[in-house]
Amino acid sequence: MTGRTAGRAAGPTPGATPGATVGRTARGGPAPAPSPQGAPAPLRAVAERLAVEHPEARTVLVHTSAFELLVATALSAQTTDVRVNAATAVLFERWPDAAALAAADPAAVEDVIRPVGMAPTKSRRIIALAAALLEHHGGEVPSEQSALEALPGVGRKTALVVRGVWFGQDALAVDTHVGRLARRLGWSAATDPARIEADVVALAETETPARPPVDLTALSLRLILHGRATCTARRPACGRCALADLCPSAGEAA
Ligand code: SF4
Repeated sequence: MTGRTAGRAAGPTPGATPGATVGRTARGGPAPAPSPQGAPAPLRAVAERLAVEHPEARTVLVHTSAFELLVATALSAQTTDVRVNAATAVLFERWPDAAALAAADPAAVEDVIRPVGMAPTKSRRIIALAAALLEHHGGEVPSEQSALEALPGVGRKTALVVRGVWFGQDALAVDTHVGRLARRLGWSAATDPARIEADVVALAETETPARPPVDLTALSLRLILHGRATCTARRPACGRCALADLCPSAGEAA
């Protein structure tokens, strides 16, 4: 893993509309040939198309610090980003850092985060998380995968999100959208997020080894945006998808 900056779109096209980029790369170069039937979609071409489709590679979780991103991501399990953002707007106002949250009354935190669901569990979890940050890292959020995963309630995906989004490291966080897209694009047959991550990283490293590496953090964030807007779980909109000529599942994924 490298420390490359995440979220920089490659040659965004102002005013680009869904589907308008088919046949052109993000940098305006010649279009890659459509994938042979059943072949995995070429990863770099997908990354370039998505960079045009979603110029701003970003998380929708509102945050102003690594601490806020870590807590918001930890709260985001089995709920919507809208609910998390509504809860954290109040949460971070009252308990803005690890020291404050570690000393918080669990019942008061529970009241504030109730909209995200599983409030008693999540309240205890984020207070324990804040306490661990205080005890082991002076209240700061570490940037190493192992140190992040050692924190209570922090799994691999949350750690990758923090490393990629806040620390600008190359980190492919696999959530439900990234997993679904990876399977539909033919990049992985797995359902286990760690296996999908390994498959996509391996593909990125072998597909075009002589060229600059694909920004995997940006790719992950854009796959999520694409999964929400176009390639949804139940009704993928292949007819207006910018990846349709590259995707082995086009017209068959629903
Ligand atoms: S919407 Fe259809 S064409 Fe686009 S990525 Fe999903 S399955 Fe493939």
